[in-house]
Amino acid sequence: MLLIEVSKRMSYQIRSEDTLARMGGDEFVLLLPDLGFSADDVAIKAENIAEKIKQALLKPYDLSGNDFSVTASLGVGIFPDDGQDSEELLRHSDIAMYQSKKRGRNCITFYSESMQQTINNREMMKSLLSKAIQTEQLETWFQVKVDQQGKIVGAEVLARWHDLQQGWISPDSFIPLAEQNGLIISLGQWLIRHITQTIARWDQHNLFQQLKHLSINVSPEQFYEPELIDSLIIMGNLFKQYSLQLIIEITEGVLLHNTEDVIQSMALLKANDIMVSIDDFGTGYSSMSYLKRLEPGEIKIDRSFISNIENDKDNQVIVESILSMAEHFGMTVVAEGVETEQERAFLQQKNCQLYQGYLYSRPLPEDDFIVFLQKFRNH
Ligand code: C2E
Ligand code: CA
Ligand code: CA
Repeated sequence: MLLIEVSKRMSYQIRSEDTLARMGGDEFVLLLPDLGFSADDVAIKAENIAEKIKQALLKPYDLSGNDFSVTASLGVGIFPDDGQDSEELLRHSDIAMYQSKKRGRNCITFYSESMQQTINNREMMKSLLSKAIQTEQLETWFQVKVDQQGKIVGAEVLARWHDLQQGWISPDSFIPLAEQNGLIISLGQWLIRHITQTIARWDQHNLFQQLKHLSINVSPEQFYEPELIDSLIIMGNLFKQYSLQLIIEITEGVLLHNTEDVIQSMALLKANDIMVSIDDFGTGYSSMSYLKRLEPGEIKIDRSFISNIENDKDNQVIVESILSMAEHFGMTVVAEGVETEQERAFLQQKNCQLYQGYLYSRPLPEDDFIVFLQKFRNH
């Protein structure tokens, strides 16, 4: 009924020579020939019609006495600039439509060359990343965590990608890409295999006298893979042989969907002595009631609250509240992104337990990290 009503509303907005078609699902295509003589003229008319349609579809629907409302995402492609044939024109209009969805729906987007460029780049990056995972062009780097006495207690594993042409690529760009197209699953599997081998090497260097725990990052997309939970448990058991605690860092985003499943997976991890840490704490949607049910062993205060904390009254209040809440629930607190002695001193005065940041060390490649730990031990 809704589809029929939507079709009717659109058909009222167009001329008799125009074509309205439903391509399937909730996707419609409008073909509007001979809109004008110049490209500008055509674009303005197309925009007007798209706007009228958008407004017409926004009005509430009465379907058998039930009220409905819907929004439309519109994409516009213009012949011949945006496509030489029907196939190309449709494909490019489709890209523009997805852009509208990404912009928050209920909007109109015209196809552009740069849009195609972005998509081409992403496609290229995606296939490069996929190869990089298979051919071991990824590395793990390590950043120490220290306690109040300045003693090293653990480290966080951070993925790095070295591409022959592009050099080092930051995880801030390839992790979100991997999350969007599912590559994060194979990346995560690679990381687990890789760390498993690393740990055996480290045992020979006696690194576990210093390192009591190792943290790895797990994205929400990975968390819903049952096999990942199994692999983590196997890895956690291996860690135990070296008296090493495995910590997995998750963001609050994990809690957005399937909360019951997530809580069950967490319980399973905890039953296997794996600690759960909430990363970037304070930036997401942390519901206090979930926090209580999840009982994470650790929370990491996002570095945006730590920066210049000794002078920022608002951040001081936030950090102090987090610290007192954590104390109440018996969770360890890690301050991320500690860069200056002033920040550290303020945090220590408030009794924050663990610190991580450039003040101590940047993330280091494995060899440098081992040297760093050995030097630290000798001082
Ligand atoms: P994150 O988990 O919040 O990691 C901390 C980030 O802060 C790291 O960036 C680290 O280099 C940076 N950092 C550490 N200390 C300081 C400091 O004192 N000042 C400043 N300004 N920055 C500091 P990196 O390595 O670029 O990682 C970015 C993000 O990528 C990570 O944020 C994490 O969310 C994600 N990521 C990295 N490796 C993995 C991985 O193996 N799996 C998954 N799922 N995500 C990963
Ligand atoms: Ca992290
Ligand atoms: Ca973080």
